[in-house]
Amino acid sequence: MSGFDCDLFVIGGGSGGVRAARMAAERGAKVLLAEAAALGGTCVNVGCIPKKLYSYAAHFAQDFQDAAGFGWDLEPPRFDWQRLKANRAREITRLNGVYGQLLSSAGVEVLRGWASFRDAQTIQVQTTEGKRLFRPAHVLVATGGTPTVPDFPGREHVLTSDSMFDLEPFPRRLVVAGGGYIACEFASIFRGLGAEVTQLHRGDQVLRGFDEEIRAFLAQETRRQGVELRLGVEVTRIIRNKGEDLQVRLTDGSELAADTVLFATGRVPNVAGLGLEAAGVKQSAAGAIEVDDRFRTSVPTILAVGDVTARLQLTPVALAEAMVVVDQLFGSGERSIDYELVPTAVFTHPNIGTVGLTEEQARKRHGGVRIFRSEFKALKHTLSGHGERTLMKLVVDAASDRVVGLHMVGPDAGEIVQGFAVAMRAGATKAVFDSTIGIHPTVAEEFVTMRQPVPG
Ligand code: FAD
Ligand code: NDP
Repeated sequence: MSGFDCDLFVIGGGSGGVRAARMAAERGAKVLLAEAAALGGTCVNVGCIPKKLYSYAAHFAQDFQDAAGFGWDLEPPRFDWQRLKANRAREITRLNGVYGQLLSSAGVEVLRGWASFRDAQTIQVQTTEGKRLFRPAHVLVATGGTPTVPDFPGREHVLTSDSMFDLEPFPRRLVVAGGGYIACEFASIFRGLGAEVTQLHRGDQVLRGFDEEIRAFLAQETRRQGVELRLGVEVTRIIRNKGEDLQVRLTDGSELAADTVLFATGRVPNVAGLGLEAAGVKQSAAGAIEVDDRFRTSVPTILAVGDVTARLQLTPVALAEAMVVVDQLFGSGERSIDYELVPTAVFTHPNIGTVGLTEEQARKRHGGVRIFRSEFKALKHTLSGHGERTLMKLVVDAASDRVVGLHMVGPDAGEIVQGFAVAMRAGATKAVFDSTIGIHPTVAEEFVTMRQPVPG
């Protein structure tokens, strides 16, 4: 480390940055980490964790209704938005502390402030006490992403997911623009919590990139849940009327009244003010830091992981990428990432859980595929009276018999699919699925009991 202030300087204390800093320090490296906001980044503060807590809150609405068919009489339940927000905030503050503790006990020095490159060798950190300069041996950029909203008249009236967790007051009439993960999840959550929700998507179906049947089925279940999902429309203008009413004009000429408009139209890499040009780090046209398969940028001593590289924007992916970097700099350098079988869940009501190829991708790649599909009303809903349905689907490469895609829309799909992702990484064939004994009565057993392929 001679002549350097540290072995590794990490910019960003989110999922990727904290993991890399902690693991590098535990391997004996001298590590500094700069974080300009709260430790834990997007996932802990305005992403996965508060979103999942609100999703749990929203599910109770359905549980209360379902309980009647099982013999329970309940007073009409009352939802207290202030209490949910306060309890969430307390838990997130606790997690911020846990992240700080993890870093300090690993020996990482945390600098609270904005970091930027002066040049490829020098990092400047602007703290409340003033500017400090550092010369690290390596720099890891893990600055994440930030929401983006298209330009249109009235854009200043919209919110992004960052502001939804502390919204005041609770939105009675919510318009959600977008058809991706965040739009679909927030539409479900706020509908469950009692808002009237209209979701607008420019495309002909939500969740581009997911299996076509899964997309259509989710749209059907979203509508059943009470979300008014409108496809093929965009917002052209928003006007704030007297009072707090927003008038939302759409491309089809119609208008909606709302008190909150959420734009969930994607996220862009967090690179503004980072000084990447001064360092000579190459970026894509959209601003993403370009990296090779070992997360090295165009400057050999500067690496980047997570959302700032705009690959798969998921917390476990950022964590895995961080481990590759640590292994490369301070370990055997043997680790790499296979992005092929990354499982993912969309925490809509019901959830989507998916891993591997969609039917469409599998047909292109493998030609001959066998599709197994099961759609049903879950046992629970025979008494609950709820109309919710579940869809489970396997995509099998006909030549090798390997299960190359597994998809589900249904309760706890994320929990169910995680285990099957292990089997698929191990190369499980349909014959292995068939020889696996189910757990009865569960929804998950359907994945090992489907025998008849869909004809054609
Ligand atoms: P981040 O976690 O965003 O961390 C970046 C950090 O860098 C931030 O703390 C930021 O303040 C800091 N920073 C930026 N610039 C500087 C600078 N110049 N100096 C100092 N600090 C700086 N993923 C899932 O896997 N499951 C989910 O359920 C899920 N839900 C989500 C829900 C929402 C609403 C959102 C927005 C995202 C969700 N994600 C989810 C995605 C997940 O949060 C991200 O993929 C993950 O947080 C990326 O980690 P990261 O380390 O790249 O960046
Ligand atoms: P996504 O990229 O998933 O979706 C963006 C949506 O906005 C798409 O439907 C897109 O439509 C639409 N859109 C883009 N630009 C415009 C525009 N100008 N006008 C109208 N619509 C537009 O982004 P999100 O913001 O939903 O989420 C960002 C990422 O965060 C996700 O991709 C995911 O990786 C991660 N995330 C993960 C979660 C999880 O794991 N459960 C939960 C939440 C986020 P089109 O399809 O036509 O391009």
